[in-house]
Amino acid sequence: MILPGHPDYDQARIVWNAIADRRPALVVRPTSVDDVISAIQFAGEEQLVVAVRGGAHSVAGFSTCDGGMVLDLSRMREVTVDPVNKRARAQGGAHLSQLDKAAQSHGLVCPVGVVGHTGVAGLTLGGGMGRLQRKLGLTVDNLVGVDLVTANGNKIHASETENPDLFWGLRGAGANFGVATSFEFRLHPMDGTIFQGGVVFPVERSLEVAEHVREFVATHDDVHVALAFTKDEELEGQPVFVVGSTHAGGVDDAERDLRVFRELRPLRDTFGAKPYLEVQRMADESSGWGQRFYTKAGFLAALSDEVVSLCAGLVETIPPGAELSLWAQGGAVGRVPDDAMAYTGRHAPFNVSAELAWTDAADDEQRIAWGRAAIAKIKPFMTTGQYVNDVVEAGTDGAQIYGQAKYERLVGLKRKYDPDNFFRLNQNIRP
Ligand SMILES: Cc1cc2nc3c(=O)[nH]c(=O)nc-3n(C[C@H](O)[C@H](O)[C@H](O)COP(=O)(O)OP(=O)(O)OC[C@H]3O[C@@H](n4cnc5c(N)ncnc54)[C@H](O)[C@@H]3O)c2cc1C
Repeated sequence: MILPGHPDYDQARIVWNAIADRRPALVVRPTSVDDVISAIQFAGEEQLVVAVRGGAHSVAGFSTCDGGMVLDLSRMREVTVDPVNKRARAQGGAHLSQLDKAAQSHGLVCPVGVVGHTGVAGLTLGGGMGRLQRKLGLTVDNLVGVDLVTANGNKIHASETENPDLFWGLRGAGANFGVATSFEFRLHPMDGTIFQGGVVFPVERSLEVAEHVREFVATHDDVHVALAFTKDEELEGQPVFVVGSTHAGGVDDAERDLRVFRELRPLRDTFGAKPYLEVQRMADESSGWGQRFYTKAGFLAALSDEVVSLCAGLVETIPPGAELSLWAQGGAVGRVPDDAMAYTGRHAPFNVSAELAWTDAADDEQRIAWGRAAIAKIKPFMTTGQYVNDVVEAGTDGAQIYGQAKYERLVGLKRKYDPDNFFRLNQNIRP
């Protein structure tokens, strides 16, 4: 337990997004499920608000608070793999890099996000987008079961067969129902080499290149495609349109498939065969702790010329360190029925997000305003749902995130599993 005045307090209260600079009354670091139960009971008796902290990457700053308890799972990070049954078990404080490494040591993989120090817990409970999503699904699509401690200190297991109603809600709205102490995932065979990189074009060519992107996405539904509109620092801030991709179907096939973009005479081409684990930690440093960050996102109904032109126009005023990022869905993501779980938006062909990183607090207002205004302009082209892990604004209506019908179902689950709204530092489903 770390209290204000303790030599470690200032370090212990920091979370990934420097904007979330808060002062909890205490930080508790359990090492066992029983410790988690004791901490929850103590917080209940003392009427302390509880911020559950997995990897501390909540952009909204939900894993810290002023005056309450931070229940920090950083001492519960074990990941074990059962290679015979192709299963991994990760404790509630594990990082993606640990799951990646443990699975790859057996030639296996679980699809997760793109920055190694992100927490397995928050990413999974919200959905889990990543480089392998079109091939192997979202992280939640590979979730087999969750061990949870509820607000009254009970241990409960959720899976397709045990408490399936709760399991439905945990997959997309999972920060609302308890402390996940461990997760079980399905793993898939994958050798250690993938083909990954991107090609960079002047933004003036985005309509022409987008034509090829539409064709490619429709005909290669297991290949990850991530587009970005940004200003390229290596090209003296020139506005650019980037087509990034990760191909996990063998180097020869990848070379052949991705030639279509590489032959378009890009300004830069970073494609190549790379170790999977290296790719997975490639952004760890540039996405390091201590920066200020804002994001706003939504699902696109189509990658139309209108949307592409709009994004290309927006990049003229984009601040340094920011991008409009568009990830293709479809493939394994789109094959799961929308009502299979709380996660909403999987049938949209693309997710678009404004992502802004900066360091000076004096820039907060201007950066956040740019992100909000950009997404407001794109909003007419968006469809149902929002990825909850990209929702930063406090008080966002849950019906906007999950759609009305799913939101009502989640309210029912909240009434059943957390009627007093003990777990409320999240995109909250009010009971
Ligand atoms: C640098 C960076 C890269 C990212 N990349 C991706 C990406 O590639 N794909 C993607 O889908 N998302 C990505 N995200 C978004 C990320 O998934 C969310 O921010 C996620 O919430 C982070 O999880 P965490 O455990 O690190 O966060 P935390 O801040 O610890 O927690 C986030 C939320 O989950 C709750 N929570 C945490 N642990 C538990 C637990 N054990 N039990 C119950 N509730 C818990 C918290 O209370 C909080 O509400 C990224 C975010 C950052 C900052």
